[in-house]
Amino acid sequence: TAALNVEKLRAEFPVLHQQVNGRDLVYFDNAATNQKPKRVIDALVGYYTGYNANIHRGIHTLAEKATKAFEETRHTAKVFINAPSAEEIIFTRGVTESINLVAATYGRAFVKEGDEIIISNLEHHSNIVPWQLVCEEKKAKLKIIPVSQDGVLNLEAYKTLLSPRTRIVAVNHASNSLGTINPVKEIIRLAHEAGAVILIDGAQAGAHLPIDVQDLDCDFYCLSSHKMFGPTGTGILYGKRALLEKMPPYQGGGEMIKEVTFEKTTYNDLPYKFEAGTPNIADVVAFRHAMEFINELGKENIAAHEHELLVYATERVSKLKGVKVIGQAKDKVGVLSFTVQGIHPFDIGQMLDARGIAVRTGHHCTQPLMECLGIEGTVRASFSVYNTKKEIDQLVEGLERIINFMK
Ligand code: PMP
Repeated sequence: TAALNVEKLRAEFPVLHQQVNGRDLVYFDNAATNQKPKRVIDALVGYYTGYNANIHRGIHTLAEKATKAFEETRHTAKVFINAPSAEEIIFTRGVTESINLVAATYGRAFVKEGDEIIISNLEHHSNIVPWQLVCEEKKAKLKIIPVSQDGVLNLEAYKTLLSPRTRIVAVNHASNSLGTINPVKEIIRLAHEAGAVILIDGAQAGAHLPIDVQDLDCDFYCLSSHKMFGPTGTGILYGKRALLEKMPPYQGGGEMIKEVTFEKTTYNDLPYKFEAGTPNIADVVAFRHAMEFINELGKENIAAHEHELLVYATERVSKLKGVKVIGQAKDKVGVLSFTVQGIHPFDIGQMLDARGIAVRTGHHCTQPLMECLGIEGTVRASFSVYNTKKEIDQLVEGLERIINFMK
C-alpha cells in the first residue's frame, strides 16, 4: 500500500533481520504476539539505564521521573481508546488478567444464583474460563452465542439468549483463530437493552482496528500491550467509572489503599484501587511508545495494508491442493487459518519453520471453537504492518513443496 512505507518500517524492527534455519525470517505469528520496534526496546533500556525507581511514593528525582513516564502511558491509553478519563484506565498483565479482574470483582459481587453470563463460541480460553469459575462459584449459568461454520456469530440466537437474568456478556472484538471481526457495537447495544454489562476482549483489535469505547458504549474493554508492538507483561482494562467504583478491589496490598488499620482498611481512588503492589513499570513506560507507533502509522493505513495481504494470501493459499480456509467472514482482521487435507497442522508448522517461516498451529486456545468446526486445529498465518506479498509468496512456495512432498 502506498500509505505505508513497508521497507522503511521494517528497518525499525531489529528482530526481523535475521536468518532462521538458513533463510530470511518470515514472521507470520503476529496474532500470538507481534514484534517490537526499536523505539519500544529503547524505552525499556532507557528506563532501566536512566530512571529506574519505584513510582508514586518517592519524592526523589528518579521516582518522579518514573512516575511521570508511567502516568503518561495511562494518558496515551486514554486517548488511544477515547476513554472519558485516565482514571478509568487500569494497568494489568494483559487481556487475561483484565478479564480475570472483572470476573473476580464485578462477577463475584454482582452475579447471583440463577443468573446468566453470555459468551460466544468464538472466544479464547481466557474469555471462557474466568466466567466458568464465576458460574461455578455462584451457581449461575453460562450461555454460548453460536457461531456458523464460516466463523460468524449468530446474532438472532444471541437475542434469544439474552434474558432478565443476564448479568454479563463477554465477547471478543476480533477472533484470534479465524480473524472474524464481530459486530460489537450491536452486541453491546443488545446487552444494554437487556440490562447486562458487557466486556469486550480487544486482544486482536489493539493493533488493527479503531477503538472508541465511548462510541461503542462498552462497560469494559481489554487490551494486551504485547499484541500492539509493546512489551509482554502489561495491558489495560478500561472500565466505566461508575462500575469500577462499585466493584470490590481485586488484589490487596500497597498502593491500592488509603489507610490501613487492623480494624478497617479504606481503598484508594481509581485507578489505584485496582493496582496493588509495584506495577510493571518498565513495560508500561515502553507501552506508550508502542501506541504512539500505531498512531503514527494510522489504524486505517494499517488495516488497509493488512487487508491487502489477507486478500492476496487467501486467494493464493486457497488454490493449493487440499487446502481449506477456515473462517470466511466478510469482515476479518489479517488472520488466515487453514487446514490441508491429510497433513497435520503441526507437521506443516514444523516444515514451514524449517524454511524460516513462523506460523502457529493447533487450537489457538479456542478448543470449543475447534470442536464446533469439527477440526483438531488449523495452521494460522497472521499478518502485521511489516509483512509483504513477497513473504506470502514464500509461504505459498513452502506449502506447495510440503503438499507435494507429503503426497
Ligand atoms: N483473547 C484473545 C482473542 C487473544 O488472542 C489472546 C492472546 N492470544 C488473549 C485473549 C489473551 O491475551 P494475553 O495472553 O495477552 O493475556
